[in-house]
Amino acid sequence: MRITKTVGEYLLARGALTRFSEVLHGHADGPDDRVLYLIDHYFRSTKLVEQLPVKPADTILYVDTTDEPTTEGIDALVKVVRQDVIPKVVVGIGGGATLDTAKAVSNLLANGGAAADYQGWDLVPGPGVFKIGVPTVSGTGAEASRTCVMMNHAKNLKLGMNSDHTVFDRLVLDPELTATVPREQYFYTGMDTYIHCVESLSGRYRHPFADACSDQALRLCRAVFLSGDMHSSDNRERLMVASFLGGSAIGNSYVGLVHPFSAGLSMVFHTHHCVSNCIVMNVMDEFYPSQTQEFRHMARMQGVEIPGGLCQNLTDQQYESLYEATIVHAKPLANALGDEFRDILSFDKVTEIFRMM
Ligand code: NAD
Ligand code: ZN
Repeated sequence: MRITKTVGEYLLARGALTRFSEVLHGHADGPDDRVLYLIDHYFRSTKLVEQLPVKPADTILYVDTTDEPTTEGIDALVKVVRQDVIPKVVVGIGGGATLDTAKAVSNLLANGGAAADYQGWDLVPGPGVFKIGVPTVSGTGAEASRTCVMMNHAKNLKLGMNSDHTVFDRLVLDPELTATVPREQYFYTGMDTYIHCVESLSGRYRHPFADACSDQALRLCRAVFLSGDMHSSDNRERLMVASFLGGSAIGNSYVGLVHPFSAGLSMVFHTHHCVSNCIVMNVMDEFYPSQTQEFRHMARMQGVEIPGGLCQNLTDQQYESLYEATIVHAKPLANALGDEFRDILSFDKVTEIFRMM
């Protein structure tokens, strides 16, 4: 067991965003103390910014989340931000992609270097700029985790800056912000929590704090997705808490089979993390039988379609790439199946599983 860092401070309340000056208090009080707001591009056409106490010294940049964050994209963003004084506070407002962007930018502004330098474990030398996270989609747990995931195209690698310095200093958890998330997206991202907890609790590695968080997060997911309307105000609040708990468990737990297969899909087809997870979970009957059934039941209840028919007729080269991009994730695969996981997950077996998707 190692010393674990979790998010120290948060404000959880409906309408919490309107209290943002309270949240900034003590960190950018002077008129010239610059606050950098990194906001998901969806909010460009909404009134969200009107709720924020933006001063003339502050900067608002919209983050294009059409594709998941890349190391090149983060470096380019940092270069733009560096053209002015270094901000006292970095604020990320959005889903996992924007939260991860804010975490990476904060680390780079304070530590210098390039995003790729810190992809790995405990490579960030010192604390980032004070960072505040404001999730607007619930499920990835990025608001609570100690990583920020980035694609590195040069190295054909998807990896985060896994570091205590990546953890947000403060969070604003405002369930009103997820009211506008499209239904499919709401389901796919919410399921990231469900799937993570199922994988973690079914694995061989045990950690009492992570288990307790995962247990409670699963309970909340069931309350949300087995109800008549997953998107009700109460359910948005439940899912936001579930995501926070699930994310708090991530540092001390391992995922299982779904995430490696999902990473394979993302690498080869560039499908986004959360929808990829759902595509994989839909064919996991052999490994997580009751949970796969429950997952399908939830999707049916909420009227959400899980994409299929992706991998039936691919070239040998594509099946090879899918296999490589899956089997490389040794830790979660061993957590699920033991150290001899390669005996079970032969090339033919992995291909058979992908063909079902
Ligand atoms: P996202 O950030 O990719 O956003 C998904 C879509 O929802 C975007 O089109 C965005 O514009 C839109 N959107 C966001 N908020 C909205 C709102 N309130 N109303 C309407 N539309 C809104 O979504 P995500 O699924 O939360 O995040 C996925 C990302 O998270 C991936 O990049 C993945 O790698 C990362 N991730 C990070 C961690 C971590 O621990 N750091 C864990 C899992 C996943
Ligand atoms: Zn995930």
